[in-house]
Amino acid sequence: TQFQPGFLFPGIETRVLFGQGTLAKVGEEIGRLGHGRALVLTTPPQAGDGEALAKDLGDIAAGTFTEAAMHTPVEVTERALAAYETAGADCVVSLGGGSTIGLGKAIATRTGCDHVAVSTSYAGSEMTDILGETQGGEKTTRRDPSIRPEVVIYDVDLTLGLPLEMSVKSALNAAAHAVEALYAPDANPVTSLMSLEALEVIRDTLPALAENPRDVEARARMLYGAWLCSTALGYVAMSLHHKLAHVIGGSFDMPHADTHAILLPHTAGFNAGGTDKLAPVADLFGGSVGGGLWDLAKRSGAPLRLADLGLTEADLDRAAEIALKNKYENPRPFDERDIRELLQAAWEGTRPA
Ligand code: NAD
Repeated sequence: TQFQPGFLFPGIETRVLFGQGTLAKVGEEIGRLGHGRALVLTTPPQAGDGEALAKDLGDIAAGTFTEAAMHTPVEVTERALAAYETAGADCVVSLGGGSTIGLGKAIATRTGCDHVAVSTSYAGSEMTDILGETQGGEKTTRRDPSIRPEVVIYDVDLTLGLPLEMSVKSALNAAAHAVEALYAPDANPVTSLMSLEALEVIRDTLPALAENPRDVEARARMLYGAWLCSTALGYVAMSLHHKLAHVIGGSFDMPHADTHAILLPHTAGFNAGGTDKLAPVADLFGGSVGGGLWDLAKRSGAPLRLADLGLTEADLDRAAEIALKNKYENPRPFDERDIRELLQAAWEGTRPA
C-alpha cells in the first residue's frame, strides 16, 4: 500500500489523450483551447512529420519551425519566437521528444501561449513544469506553472519508428523519474502509485520491445509507462540521480538518455541503502534494486559504461566535485567519496550488488 499519514496532492491539471491515431485529434484540441493558428515545432529529423501535420491541420496551422535542438539553446528559441510572431500564431504544437517539447515550453513561458505537446519518445518532459535551457554553454533549469503544456497527446503509432537504441535508453530515462519520485520529499500517494505501476510496466515490457521494436502492444505499454513516469516527475522534487545526470550531461556535454540509463542502476542501488521507500522496487527486481535494474538494462541492450561515452576518470573527479556544490534532499546522506565511487562503478559498468 502507498498510504501516507500526511500528504499534499496538488492535482493533475494536464488534459491527456492516449491511444492509436490520436495525432488526428490535434486540430480538435486546438479548437477546444479557443485557438486557430498553431506553429508546429519539430527537430530537423522529424521535419517531414511536422510538415505533414501542418498540412492535415490546414488553416489551423500557422506554419512550421523545424530547428528544435537538444538542451533548448536560447538562440534557437529566439529564432522560433521570431517565426511565431511572423506567422501570426496563437499557440504551439510540439511534435517530438524532450528537445522539441522543451522548445514548446520555452515559447509558451515567454509568450503565455497554450502548448499542445505530442510526445514521441519516453523522456518525459511533456507532463512537467520543468524547463532546462542553455546559453553560452551554461544550462539552467527552472520550474513554473507557465511551462506545463495544457494538452498532451500520446499516439502509439508515432513511437513505432523510434529507433531501438533510443527506445531502450529513453525507457530507462523514464524509469529514473519513477525511482526518484518514490523517495521524493514531496511524494504523494498518487505519484507513488503511478511510479510503482510504471516500474512494473517497464520491467515487463522493455525486453519484449528490445526484441521487436514494431510490436504495437509493447509500444503501447511502454508509452503508458512513460506517461506515468512523466506525470510523477511533474509533481515532485528530484534528488541524487537527476542531479548527477544534470552534471554529467550539462558540464561534460554527454547525451541525455545515455547518461540517465547508465547512472540509474548505480544511483538507485545507492539510495536503496538509505530508504525503505524502494523496498517495493526491490520486490519487483528480484531482491536488488541496483542489480535488478542493471540486469534489465543489460538484457535490453542499453549502454552500461560512462567510459563508452568518452568520459575520462579525471572527468569523474570533477563531476563528483561539482555534484557536491549544491545542496538538495536525498534519502541517503553522501560525501564526495561516495559519489566518486558511484561514478567509478558507472564508468566501469560493473553490476551493483
Ligand atoms: P530528443 O528529443 O533530442 O530526441 C532525440 C532524437 O530522436 C531527435 O532527433 C528526435 O527528433 C528523434 N525522435 C524522437 N522521437 C522520435 C520518433 N518517435 N521517431 C523517430 N525519431 C524520433 O531526446 P529525448 O531523450 O526525447 O529528450 C531529451 C531532452 O529532453 C533533453 O534536452 C532533456 O533535458 C529534456 N528533458 C526535459 C524534461 C523536463 O521535464 N524538462 C524531462 C525529460 C527530458
